[in-house]
Amino acid sequence: MRLSDGFGRTFKYLRLSVTEACNFKCSYCLPDGYRKCAGPQPLTVDELRRAATAFTELGLRKIRLTGGEPTVRKDFLEIAETIGALHGLEKLALTTNGYRLEHRAKAFFDAGISAINVSLDSLDPATFLKVTGHDRCHEVLRGIDAAFDAGFDSVKLNAVFLKGINDHELESYLQLAKDRPLSVRFIELMETGDHPAYFQRHHIPATVIAEKLEREGWTKKLKAVDAGPANEYVHPDYRGSIGLIAPYSKDFCKSCNRLRFSSMGKLHLCLFGEFGVPMRALLQSDDQVEELKARLIKAVGQKVDGHQLAAGLTGQTSNLSSIGG
Ligand code: SAM
Ligand code: SF4
Repeated sequence: MRLSDGFGRTFKYLRLSVTEACNFKCSYCLPDGYRKCAGPQPLTVDELRRAATAFTELGLRKIRLTGGEPTVRKDFLEIAETIGALHGLEKLALTTNGYRLEHRAKAFFDAGISAINVSLDSLDPATFLKVTGHDRCHEVLRGIDAAFDAGFDSVKLNAVFLKGINDHELESYLQLAKDRPLSVRFIELMETGDHPAYFQRHHIPATVIAEKLEREGWTKKLKAVDAGPANEYVHPDYRGSIGLIAPYSKDFCKSCNRLRFSSMGKLHLCLFGEFGVPMRALLQSDDQVEELKARLIKAVGQKVDGHQLAAGLTGQTSNLSSIGG
């Protein structure tokens, strides 16, 4: 049994959000910080395990823990150990803002996480503070070093490219990939329901970076069938690589191989879809896994061919922390 849709796309990759909460205040995501609302608690470890079990039994081989900030959960290591131990899972990855990573990287690695993406939107401490509300730029950089030291062979740095904020830092980011196998990934700012004006002010098309890279001798690698959303660029003088995530590009959705599951137990077929399919009622006992799998197969079969972001339709997504970026 596999998860596939009506457009010939097969799904091997799940982004599993473990919380909507976050301790940072990124200006494009949660500029006023996370505000807890009354309502259900995020999925428990057992609920997360059952969801992940159903997905792995349906052929998913890679799970990325995300949020919000996944590492703010007190039981985060237990979550990682539980999911990392599932039969059939080949890769457990983490996306984090790097908070206290310098002290925790080894524990994350020992818990079974094998790939880590660290968000770092500026290499300049003052700009980093302006974007995130935290004076932790150097700490996050030390966290990336700690991840290499801990044994991660896949360390990626994510930066949302922002006009008038960090668009003059491209060269500094490239230097980080000069002598070590770091993949620096620039994410094109996506419009979300909460921040249309921010998008108008700070959006830069990824093509601007692609053209600059190509002028400087970087070449685009052919994409593997099961690759993630980034187009990877390499250069003979650099050990690392540069990835561009260009959600507005014409063919971005064609190769979509990812699904999202929110910390409230909803399946999201697209980051910019209109609704999530509620599954929490089927996460209450181990006996429900078969029923859950059947529901997942049915829902995924209804995935539409692509998002309508270019037409300014952001779907239900108010910000990425609510679904899991
Ligand atoms: N808190 C973690 C972090 O920041 O890495 C994980 C969750 S965050 C929502 C995942 C990624 O989404 C981050 O790299 C973040 O920069 C990116 N992101 C959030 N909002 C975005 C937006 N509107 N456009 C593009 N990327 C965005
Ligand atoms: Fe938090 Fe990540 Fe959103 Fe920044 S991008 S506010 S770190 S969830």
